[in-house]
Order: sequence, then C-alpha cells, then structure tokens
Amino acid sequence: MTILRFRPPGALLAIFLVSTLLSVSPGCGPTHVAEPEAPVLLVGVDGLEWEVLRPLMEAGRCPNLRALAEAGSYGRLGTFIPTHSPVVWTSIATGKRMEAHGITSFVDPQGRAFTSSRRAGRALWNIADRYGLSSAVIGWWITWPVEPVRGVMVSGTSAVAQLADNWKPALMPGVDDQVHPSELTDRVLEIAASAGSREELQIVARENVFGTYSEGVMGADEQVLIDQTLWSVQSDATYFQIARSLMPEFQTDLTLVYFGGPDVAGHRFWRQSHPEEFAYTGSSPAADAALAEVLPNYYAWVDEMIGELVEMAGEGANVMVVSDHGMHAVATKKPNQRNTTGDHQDGAPGVLIAAGPDIRPQGHLEQVLQSGALPTHGSVYSVAPTILGLLGIPAARDMEARVYPNILTAAARERIGALDLVPTHDDGFREPAMLAMSAEGEEEFKKRMAELGYLDLPAAPTSRPVNPDGFVPDPEGLGGDGDR
Ligand SMILES: [Zn+2]
Repeated sequence: MTILRFRPPGALLAIFLVSTLLSVSPGCGPTHVAEPEAPVLLVGVDGLEWEVLRPLMEAGRCPNLRALAEAGSYGRLGTFIPTHSPVVWTSIATGKRMEAHGITSFVDPQGRAFTSSRRAGRALWNIADRYGLSSAVIGWWITWPVEPVRGVMVSGTSAVAQLADNWKPALMPGVDDQVHPSELTDRVLEIAASAGSREELQIVARENVFGTYSEGVMGADEQVLIDQTLWSVQSDATYFQIARSLMPEFQTDLTLVYFGGPDVAGHRFWRQSHPEEFAYTGSSPAADAALAEVLPNYYAWVDEMIGELVEMAGEGANVMVVSDHGMHAVATKKPNQRNTTGDHQDGAPGVLIAAGPDIRPQGHLEQVLQSGALPTHGSVYSVAPTILGLLGIPAARDMEARVYPNILTAAARERIGALDLVPTHDDGFREPAMLAMSAEGEEEFKKRMAELGYLDLPAAPTSRPVNPDGFVPDPEGLGGDGDR
C-alpha cells in the first residue's frame, strides 16, 4: 500500500498514525485511501518561458529539463490574468479561479498580505491528506501558516511575519507555523540560516547566476538590478537545500517545490540577454555584456536543481514541471521606471514538461525545439485535477478544468477516466480566516513587492483566461461522466 512509502521519523510516528485515523473516517469526506501507482513530483518554476528555454535545451544547457521532455510530454501551459504569483500558484494548487479560492493578489484591498488561512477550499496537499496520502510542500506561495498534513510542509514567501525583521532568508527565526511538523522547525531553520548566509549567498550567486566581472564594471543602475535578484537566489538556494534534506527522509506520495528566480531574473535582465529586441542600451556596454548571461545562467541553475529533485523523487515517479506564465520583452522603445525589461502582465503562456510511467512520450523534441511549434497542453487550471488523477484521486466538479488527457499514456487515461468525479473536495473545510500581522511586517512585505513592480498594477477585480493558440479554459478533459 502506498502509504508505507511515507516513513516518518520515529518520534513522529504516533502523530502520523493518529492523524491517519482521524482524517479518513466514514461519514466525513472520502472513505477510502487512494493508492497511486507512482509518487508525483510537481516543480513550480515562476516565469519559465519557452523562448528562453528552447535555445538552452538545444545547446545542452538545461539537460535535465531536456531529458524530461525527451522522455515525456512538453508544451505551453495557458494561464490567466492577473498573473500575480500568489494568485496563479494558488490556482495551480487548487484548480480554482481566483474568485473561488479567494487569493486575489499579494495584498488585499485593505493592504493586508494574503495567508494560507485566507484560502477558500482545499489545496492539493489537503486533498491528498484526506485520501490518506502524504505530501512534502516546500516554498510554495501562500503556505504560511503551514497546514497539518501527513508529511512535511515548509512555508513559502506569503507571510508578512516572515519578512518583519529581514526578508532574506524567507524563513524567519522566531516566527511560528513555518514548518510542519513543528518538531522539524529547528532543523529547517538551521538549513535556512546556513544556505541563506551572506557568505553562502555570494558563492552561490557568483557560481550559478552572475559569474565574475571586473571591479567597477557595474554602475549604480546595474547594482540595483543585481541586488533585486539576490533575494531570489537566496530563496531558491534555501528551499532547494531544505528539499534536499527532507525529500529522501519523507518519501511522500506528492512533493511540491517552488523556484521563483527565473521570473525575477526575467524582469530584471531580459534586455541584457535579448539586446536585439530593444531600441536602447544600458549606460555601460561592458556592464550589459557582463550581465548578458544572467537569465540563461539562472535557467541552467534551476535545471540543475530540478535534476536533483527528480533523482530524489526516484525513477518511478511522475514528474511535472510547470510555470505560472511565460515572459517577453517590455519597454523596448525606452526604459521604464520599474527597471523592468521582461514581463508577463498580458498572460503569456507558460511551460509544461512532464515525464514518468503515466506520461505519454510525445517525441519529436528536436524538431519542435527548432521550430518552436509547441502544442498547448491545457492550462494552469488543469494541473491540479491532473495531479490528483495521477495520485488516484478524482477531480471535483467545482474545479475550473478537468484532467488534461493528452499528456497521459493510454493506460493512465483509462485508469483516471474510471475515477468518478466528486462534487467538491471542499466539504467540511475550515472557513477562510484573517490573521493579524505586524505593521512593520506589512511595510517590509510591500517594500519587497514594490521592488518587483507588482504594486504599481491596478487591482484586478476578476480573472480572465488568456488564449494563446487555442487554449480553452475548460478543456474537454477526463473524469467520470465527463460532466461538470
Ligand atoms: Zn513576474
């Protein structure tokens, strides 16, 4: 039985057993334990864009993503606007529109940061838990405070409290509910302190992202771009080290890991890596040249980390790598005030690459990389039902889309197609609740987000699907009677 794969440390076994008995109980939600054929790894990479990735895959600079695409399915992933990270990543984790899950931006109209307690409805990890499966959730958006699921959860950068003292490491000493089970807090914070130390960050940033450049080559403008990217280098390195420590020990049925840096590097360094798309240059050609590789380097670094995650997930795992949106050049005629030369506010489609025993080998990778004629494989809304299907859990009628069948093997399509849709996975879930945050934390959080340019955007009262080539927001998908 699948549940045996999850081996909690001895001290946690009692808690684990008690929660198992409590959660899968007759008369309250599912009465059976799902039995997936294989564990599932979902890697979220913010802003991953095919136009950057394609040449890197061709040149052998993203060998791990290439290997996944070669073995499995790959294509564009439709998204919606607004493309704010908390909104889209919560839609990916719930299969719901923002109007349904309630996380509508970084901060609400009263300026309060969204937290996991505000989310209406269950996310993948809550649903997996209900079906007796374990999850490892590491660095995902809007996961503070952590939720008591089977497995392990390390909260992402959603909480003001995490940012109250210092926003570099995203995990803050002294803030409660960042790690579940709480017994692991000291261990996780120790990893965060060492992976996020100034010395370590300098090494990681130089070796993986910025390279070395001559003294004095960077002007004040360039230094700002570099500083604005460093926190995401630190964040990605920190959560990766945490995943590295926890994944082999908590061999969970479902693992989610998030990397944010490709989006940040795309915002800051699009011009330097795509100078031909811009009518102007920076103040220093030497600095432009020195920074030309930042974006591709960041992709290559994330590819390397994904390679390790895939290895830790094991050969038999189903792996899905998704981005919340793609990116492209903006402000190509003259510089804008936000230091932004790459953006995605129009809902540029993202990336989906999947491989594993249940994923269909699509083939033709070399030709597609050359031509760029990528198929669209569903949308951010079809990720959650598809992940659930791979875990042997039915999709719910109140989700925005169904399982996306084109990436599945015939056997997996048949198996998942036989699962009866449930009306909802949200019955009996706690009501959304506000958490009080410190005023200093609110300010620090807003400052950090303003640096990314997000808060300059007008509020988006409703979400709207964006149609790349023929993306249908509610594709004809799998699941029981096919009805919604
Ligand atoms: Zn962005």
